[in-house]
Amino acid sequence: MSTQENKNGKAAINISEIRLAQSNSYNKLIANNAAWVERKLAEDGEFFKNLAKGQSPEVLWIGCSDSRVPANEVTGTKPGEVFVHRNIANVCVHSDMNMLSVLDYAVNVLKVKHVIVAGHYGCGGVAAAMSHKQFGLIDNWLRHIKDVYRLHANELDRITDETTRVNRLVELNVTEQVYNLCKTTIIQNAWKERHDLEVHGWVIDLASGLVKDLKVTSSSPDNLGYVYDLNVEAVAAH
Ligand SMILES: [Zn+2]
Repeated sequence: MSTQENKNGKAAINISEIRLAQSNSYNKLIANNAAWVERKLAEDGEFFKNLAKGQSPEVLWIGCSDSRVPANEVTGTKPGEVFVHRNIANVCVHSDMNMLSVLDYAVNVLKVKHVIVAGHYGCGGVAAAMSHKQFGLIDNWLRHIKDVYRLHANELDRITDETTRVNRLVELNVTEQVYNLCKTTIIQNAWKERHDLEVHGWVIDLASGLVKDLKVTSSSPDNLGYVYDLNVEAVAAH
């Protein structure tokens, strides 16, 4: 895009060039899609015929909406292998009907074996949650991450380097969201019926592309804490 000086000496924006750039980036998507179809069919003539038959993914990915962390690319998986839910800063709260619907469908209908909460270093949502600015509606969503900060304020306040502090909160946020998933009736009820369901926490390092497993995998309600355990037989009062 170029600009030129108008009569008042101010830079004039060339609207037609903006429109051309916009239509080019949009048209590129359609062209890329056609090229992808061609490539896939060259590899396997039955690819789309098989894809249309249905899905049986073993993994549910709950990741950040950030454009740099696409589930399939990061994990080298194909269409049909990962069921995906993404939101800003991969937050899992029990009042989010969207997340709960995805989780319920993945766990109880698709019978996934692994639920992965995938955050990433340098997460803008986490950094925004650490700031004291208003960003608009999103402030309400970021509040969940401020709550995570509050839980770990002793540790985080001691980290003087801001990037290091953001990245540590990224890890702590993923860990808390793993536990939030484990607290849901969806996960707890599934664990009563089967023993092949694990909830994991990962952080993607954008600088290397590599995933760090935070080793917070849960496969039973054992570490939940009594107050969150929803499968304790009621103790008779008195
Ligand atoms: Zn992010």
